[in-house]
Formats: sequence, structure tokens, C-alpha cells
Amino acid sequence: MTDTQQRPMILIVDDVPINVQILAEALSSVYRIKVASNGVDALKIAQGQQPDLILLDVMMPEMDGFEVCRRLKADTLTHKIPVIFVTAKNAESDEELGLNLGAVDYITKPFVIPVAKARIRNHIRLKQQADLLESLSLIDALTDIPNRRRFDEALASEWKRAVRDVTPISLLMIDIDHFKQYNDYYGHGAGDVCLQMVAAELAKGVVRPGDLVARYGGEEFVVILPETNQESALQIAERLRERIEKKALPHVYPGVDSVVTISVGVATQDKIPEYFLPKILNDAADNALYMAKERGRNRVCSY
Ligand code: GH3
Ligand code: MG
Ligand code: MG
Repeated sequence: MTDTQQRPMILIVDDVPINVQILAEALSSVYRIKVASNGVDALKIAQGQQPDLILLDVMMPEMDGFEVCRRLKADTLTHKIPVIFVTAKNAESDEELGLNLGAVDYITKPFVIPVAKARIRNHIRLKQQADLLESLSLIDALTDIPNRRRFDEALASEWKRAVRDVTPISLLMIDIDHFKQYNDYYGHGAGDVCLQMVAAELAKGVVRPGDLVARYGGEEFVVILPETNQESALQIAERLRERIEKKALPHVYPGVDSVVTISVGVATQDKIPEYFLPKILNDAADNALYMAKERGRNRVCSY
């Protein structure tokens, strides 16, 4: 990633080119700048490129800035992007309306550039802190892979996509075998290290960008495989099982001389009716995992 890609992105929305130019000149050394000259383009850019801040003019033909703000705040794709109105409308009632629509600030023209820059910088900082907190809240602290919350969100959206696009979706439910003995024999600290190894191997073992490996809880992991039929899901599951076995982490306890292994339950749903909920995929993968345990562990079963 180059330096320019990492700089925060600001979308400037104004129908008057000179206004855009003044802001862009003041900000372009610190931020990446996108420009829209009307509300429709602004919404399109906001949805696609996810700017870190939007500077929004109020008086524009067709769709005014207040309406743009309303729509930004009503859309889950854009509602977290902070909006600052930058406008010549300086009546207190306009400012009140803008702030009540969810804007974080209201700057009236003409403005003093250093003051506007300072306000913008502060709001960008707050946005970055919020983004960081949000990303941390979706990562499991021990294993550094997505947590249960992230999994629930991802499954809900991938499920919706599978229903809409009529594509299959598969889910792997993975559980470490005899992990209680591992903890008992090697200690909880070693157990934690084992969980980290398994998480890292699983994460390395899936390749497509849409696939998601998450810690489901305790010593259980899940893998979402969008656009994946049962045959491919079984292959991926088997590959993951082999991967963990090949790491050959000793799992020796009285009467057993072995290595750490996993059992995997595979479930696939195809041509999903609209009224089905993702829970049926969860339950099916759970049942398949139970079967894998019943049949002797260190194996893959499908349901
Ligand atoms: P099975 O083969 O049937 O899955 O047996 P098991 O012993 O793996 O299953 P069980 O559910 O009885 O035990 C799971 C163990 O996982 C018990 C718990 O102490 C351990 N565990 C859960 N979370 C953590 C963790 O964060 N760290 C460590 N070290 N152990 C954990
Ligand atoms: Mg287990
Ligand atoms: Mg378990």
C-alpha cells in the first residue's frame, strides 16, 4: 500500500467549482480528495469509495445538501461517514437542522481556512478512532482472527447474497479433538498457544478473498465459504484437517500417543428459499461435526 492510499479520504460536495477548489487546495497536501458536483454523484461515491469525511454544501440544484445528508444517514453503507456542512446558509435554524440530521459540524462561509482545517483534522481523528475500535471489536484477542460477532455479521450478509444471486454457500464447523485433555496435560498456557496455531493454520488454509475463518468460541472455529458447493467445501475441509495434522503438535496424554487434530462438520445450502434463515446452515454444520466426533474424530463429515 502506498502512502497516498493510506491517507484519509475526504469527499468534497459542491456545485460551484471555485468553492471546491478552495477546499481542495487547503486539504490536498494532507488528504486524498474526491469531488462531486451534485447529490447523486456524492451518494454514489460515498457508497463505493467510503470516504472518511464528507464536506457537504447545502444549496445545490436538484438535491440539496440536507437531503444528501438524510440519505447518507439512512443507508447502512454510508451512515457512519461523518458529514460536515460547509455552507453560506448561516441562519441558526439551518445549522440546527444540519446538526439534527446527523452532521458532526457546520461551517459557514466565508470561513477561515486554518480554523476549518483544524476542525476537519479533529473529526478525521475521531473517525479513525471509531474505525479502530470497531475493527478491534470484531477480532478475537487470543488468536487475532475474526471473532463470533464478525462471523455472525458476515454470515448474515453472505447468506443474503446467496439468496439474491442463487449461489450455494457452505459452512465448516471445526472443533479441536480432545482439547480438554490437552489443557489438562500441558496447561492452559500451552492450550492457548495451540489455539493460536490452529487459528493461524486455518486462516492460511483458505484462499479466496470472500472466505472467512473465525473463532466461534472456546476451541471451535468456523469457516464461511461463499459460492462454494458441497464437493468443494468437502475438499477444503479435508485440506484444513490435513494441515493441522501435518503440524504434528504433540498431544500425548496417558494411554494416547498422538498429535493435535480437528474434526470438521460441513454444511451446504443451495437454491435457498427467501424465508430460510442462516441458522439452518449453522445447525446442519453442527450436526455434521457431531457425526465426525461420533465416528472417531480427526475427520470430515457432511450433513
Ligand atoms: P472433543 O474431542 O469431543 O471435542 O473433546 P474436547 O475435550 O475437545 O471438548 P470439550 O468441549 O470437553 O473441551 C473443550 C476444552 O476447551 C475445555 C476448555 O477448557 C478448553 N478451552 C476453551 N477455551 C479455551 C481457551 O481460550 N484457552 C484454553 N487454553 N482452553 C480453552
Ligand atoms: Mg473439542
Ligand atoms: Mg468444543
